Amino acid sequence: MCAWRRLHGSVRTLRGSLTRGSLTSTAVTKRHQGPCGSLTFCQSLSTGGFLRSDFIKDLEAQLAAMRKKAVDALPGSSWTPFQINPNLPPETADIVIVGGGVVGWSIAYWLKQKEKLSRGMRVLVVERDPTYSQASTVLSAGGIRQQFSLPENIHLSLASADFMRNINEHLSVVNEDPVDLQFNQSGYLFLASEEVAHIMEQNYDTQRFAGAKVSLLSPQQVKEKFPWINTEGVVLASYGLENEGWFDPWTLLNAFRRKAMSLGVMQCFGEVADFKYTTSVTSAWAGFYDYNTFDQNGIIGMHPLINNMYFATGFSGHGLQHSPAVGRAVAELILDGEFKTLDLSGFSFRRILTQEPMLEQNIV
Ligand SMILES: Cc1cc2nc3c(=O)[nH]c(=O)nc-3n(C[C@H](O)[C@H](O)[C@H](O)COP(=O)(O)OP(=O)(O)OC[C@H]3O[C@@H](n4cnc5c(N)ncnc54)[C@H](O)[C@@H]3O)c2cc1C
Repeated sequence: MCAWRRLHGSVRTLRGSLTRGSLTSTAVTKRHQGPCGSLTFCQSLSTGGFLRSDFIKDLEAQLAAMRKKAVDALPGSSWTPFQINPNLPPETADIVIVGGGVVGWSIAYWLKQKEKLSRGMRVLVVERDPTYSQASTVLSAGGIRQQFSLPENIHLSLASADFMRNINEHLSVVNEDPVDLQFNQSGYLFLASEEVAHIMEQNYDTQRFAGAKVSLLSPQQVKEKFPWINTEGVVLASYGLENEGWFDPWTLLNAFRRKAMSLGVMQCFGEVADFKYTTSVTSAWAGFYDYNTFDQNGIIGMHPLINNMYFATGFSGHGLQHSPAVGRAVAELILDGEFKTLDLSGFSFRRILTQEPMLEQNIV
C-alpha cells in the first residue's frame, strides 16, 4: 500500500495514469463531484457546443435518482453516498491509497474512523485486480502470533489481536450480518534446539515484558501436551497462551472494505501505472510474499523525499495479522503528523538509507 495525502492535482495525474478502467477523455470532458455522488456532464466534441437541454434533463433525472437514494439511505441501506462507477476514479480525492489489500483497506477504515479530524475527507482506494487473485492477503495462511523478537512486532500483534477479538465493535455495519472472523486462538508452538535455546529465552523475556502471555515448556511438557510431537533434539519450547492462532483472511479484508465504504471511502479499479518500485521474487508458493530482503520487517511511514507519500509495505509474512494496528498507525501519521498509540518510527524508510536493519529473528 502506498498513500498520497491531500494532492488535488495529483488525482488528475492518477486519472491519466490508470491503464485499466480508465476514463476516456472523448466521452467525459468535464466532471463535477458533488458531496452526495457524482454528476457527469459532457461537452459535445463534434460541435464543441454545450447541449444545455440535454444537460438539464440529465441533471433532473440524476437529482431525482439522488433524492430516491437519499430516502433509501437510512441506516442499513446498501447505498454508499460516495459510490460512483467503480471503474472510474473521482475528479478529486484528498487521500489516494494504492492497493486495496488488507493493509490499504485498514488504513482507509482508520482514516474515516478518525473522522473528527478528517471530516469530509475524500479517501479513494485504487485496486488493479478486483478478483484479488494475486494479492497476498487472500493467499495467506491467516496466522497471528505474539511470539516475535522485536517489541514493535509484539505490540502490533497484541493490538491487532484485541481488535480481532472485538471485531464487531469496530467493523460491524448496521443491518448487515456480523463479521464472523473464525478467529481460532489455538496458540503457536516454537521448538528450540540447544544452539538457539538462549535466543528463545531472550525472546520470551521480551514478549512477557511487552505483555504477551507466552509460556516456556520443557521437552517433557511438550510431550504431555502434544503426544504426537517428536521431541528428539528439542531442549526448549515456547507456547502462546492467548491471542495466537488463525482466522479467515478474506473475511477480514471484506470486513474492512465493507465498513470503510459504509463510512464513505470510495474505491475504483485500475492500476496506478506511473508508480515505480522494484521488487524481486525470491521464492513463490501461492503468490507474492511481500518479503523485505533488508530486514524482514514492514516499511511504515513517510517517503524520505516526497512529504505527502506514505509507505505501508514489505511485511514479510506478518502483514495480515498486523493490518488492524498498522492501519491505525498510518492514519495517525497522516492525520496527526505522528504516531499516537504505538511508536513505529523504527520501521520508517530511513533505516534503509542509513543501513540500520530492524532484524526480526522470529520469522516463519
Ligand atoms: C503464502 C502466504 C502466506 C502468508 N501467511 C501469513 C500469515 O499467516 N499471517 C500474516 O500475518 N501474514 C501472512 N502473509 C503475509 C500477508 O498476507 C501480507 O503481509 C499482507 O496480506 C499484505 O497485505 P497488503 O494489503 O500490503 O498486500 P496485498 O494483499 O498483496 O494487497 C496489495 C494490493 O495492491 C494491488 N496493487 C499493487 N500494485 C498496484 C498498483 N500499482 N495499482 C493498483 N493496485 C495495485 C494488488 O492488486 C493487491 O490487491 C502471507 C503471505 C503469503 C503470500
